[in-house]
Amino acid sequence: MSYKFYPDWYNNPPPARSYRSIFKWGSPSVFKHPNERLLKVIKDRLGMKDEDFKHKKNTGDETVKIDFPVKLNKIFLKKLEDIVGSENVLTDDYSRLKFAYGKTMLDLMRLRLKIAENIPDAVVSPRCKDEIKKIIELCDKNLVPITVYSGGSSVTRGVECPKGGISLNMQKYMKRILKINPVNQTVTVQPGISGPELEKALNNAQNLFSTKYNYTCGHFPQSFEYSTVGGWITTRGAGQNSTYYGKIENLVLSQEYLTPAGEIRTGEYPAHAMGPDLNQVMIGSEGVFGILVSATLKIFRLIPHSTRRFSFIFKSWQNAIDATREIMQAQFGFPSIFRLSDPEETEIALRMYGADFRIIQTFLRVKGYKLGESCLLIGTCDGDDDFTKLVSGKISEIASDYKAMSLSGLVAKAWEKSRFKDPYMRDDFLDFGIIVDTLECSACWDRIEHVWKRVTETCKKYPRTICMAHISHFYPQGANLYFTFFTKEDGIKEYLQIQNDMIGAIRQSGASLSHHHGIGKMIAPWFEGAVGKEHLDVLKALKKHFDPNNIMNPGGTLALDIPETEKK
Ligand SMILES: Cc1cc2nc3c(=O)[nH]c(=O)nc-3n(C[C@H](O)[C@H](O)[C@H](O)COP(=O)(O)OP(=O)(O)OC[C@H]3O[C@@H](n4cnc5c(N)ncnc54)[C@H](O)[C@@H]3O)c2cc1C
Repeated sequence: MSYKFYPDWYNNPPPARSYRSIFKWGSPSVFKHPNERLLKVIKDRLGMKDEDFKHKKNTGDETVKIDFPVKLNKIFLKKLEDIVGSENVLTDDYSRLKFAYGKTMLDLMRLRLKIAENIPDAVVSPRCKDEIKKIIELCDKNLVPITVYSGGSSVTRGVECPKGGISLNMQKYMKRILKINPVNQTVTVQPGISGPELEKALNNAQNLFSTKYNYTCGHFPQSFEYSTVGGWITTRGAGQNSTYYGKIENLVLSQEYLTPAGEIRTGEYPAHAMGPDLNQVMIGSEGVFGILVSATLKIFRLIPHSTRRFSFIFKSWQNAIDATREIMQAQFGFPSIFRLSDPEETEIALRMYGADFRIIQTFLRVKGYKLGESCLLIGTCDGDDDFTKLVSGKISEIASDYKAMSLSGLVAKAWEKSRFKDPYMRDDFLDFGIIVDTLECSACWDRIEHVWKRVTETCKKYPRTICMAHISHFYPQGANLYFTFFTKEDGIKEYLQIQNDMIGAIRQSGASLSHHHGIGKMIAPWFEGAVGKEHLDVLKALKKHFDPNNIMNPGGTLALDIPETEKK
């Protein structure tokens, strides 16, 4: 029997200057609603009925109004205006709230409930490096906090301003391509440039910069369309093709930071042995040492015609993990997108992407693959044609050794097509009181299963939850684990309880606290426990050097200034 009821999803651009216009993901006029099959599984697992999808709640359509007087005095604001121009210093309610929050689930919940906290006194948009330098000098002299805001897609409370001060908007002007160097195969950019702006220019380099080839940056996080190079670097991010191209820390050649202690510019070398690597010290610094003002990234020739796609279904999680480890350790080269879903995510993905789920289900059953146990592996191989032929061929051989069945490249293609659109569904779900949130970490191969089991079991001990996982960044020594959980919204406190338990489980299972989202203010309470006091002391010493007055992103980021009582 087909499933008839379909909710009246929110399908209009949010009203101007509304709470919704701040929390809505992506373009105001783009939507991707859950399909009937996905909705059915969510309803079944969370124990919800059609009735629960008849009335949206806390949609945030109201105009933003907050009651927080600006604490910066008029003389100081005038000095800021003198630096960047009065049109680039905003103190209205809407701008201050918009730049206070990123895209953490807690941000979305607070905005829907009209909870305004940790907001900046002013939003300042610098037009060039020189202006940033003057802003830092002025703020340092007056002990005014600066929190950098770029794409605002942080999912770790990275852009919040608990100490007020200014939010520095890097995305308005600081987004130029400064140089393409085809000899070294690098691009130098300002940090506010977004994924599509960068990729479009690189893909058209022959026309735009008269280069012999077109290029790609190879960095495609799921937030690609709404995040920036500055955010990628300072949170130590990873793109979905990182198994081949590397994480952002592998893509940065050199960087330039402005800090209260002065300017830091790292040299352009393919590698060096000049002591500890300052590049790596600054990558992942989340705005607490200084402001990234330019970066030189490695780029790659664009060879889309030789990309090969594959999809396999494995009989069990164990089989799939063993096969992917073998693929990563067999030394024939790495795939580009490489994504293995656990049994729960496999079932939901097949429901979401499979046009006729019942036919797929029957087909898999006949072939001996049980839903609830089977695992989907999808991927692509990028590079020279001979290379992609070799790598995809070897992957097929190994998959078949581990009794996987090929589903051709079509599933991978379907996933690729909608890979940046899935986050749009988060707003739909929350309209009807369903939380969808994610946490991620990494572990070496000998701990992967333990971490996965511990974290999923921790989530599932809460009634009416779905917890699914995938691995999407692979290494010869281990991989990441990315958990997505659904739960019925029951208040901020109750949501935070599940999230805290899951972060605690990640920490206790011996995994890294984050593989690519960073620490921010959200994971900071667990940070010292995970890395140890001596490790944190090194970061505190660096902080003291770069920013002795603690004006750069203060209020908890990277646990540099959180009270003892908040540590977990
Ligand atoms: C739907 C969704 C999907 C996501 N998928 C991925 C993914 O696949 N991979 C991934 O790695 N992340 C992902 N993220 C997380 C987020 O997109 C990344 O952390 C991203 O790198 C943040 O970039 P941004 O430009 O939005 O930075 P922001 O959110 O503006 O800032 C993030 C942090 O960096 C600091 N910062 C930003 N620019 C500078 C600068 N120039 N100088 C100093 N500090 C700076 C900020 O102060 C803040 O602490 C996802 C987020 C969402 C909402």
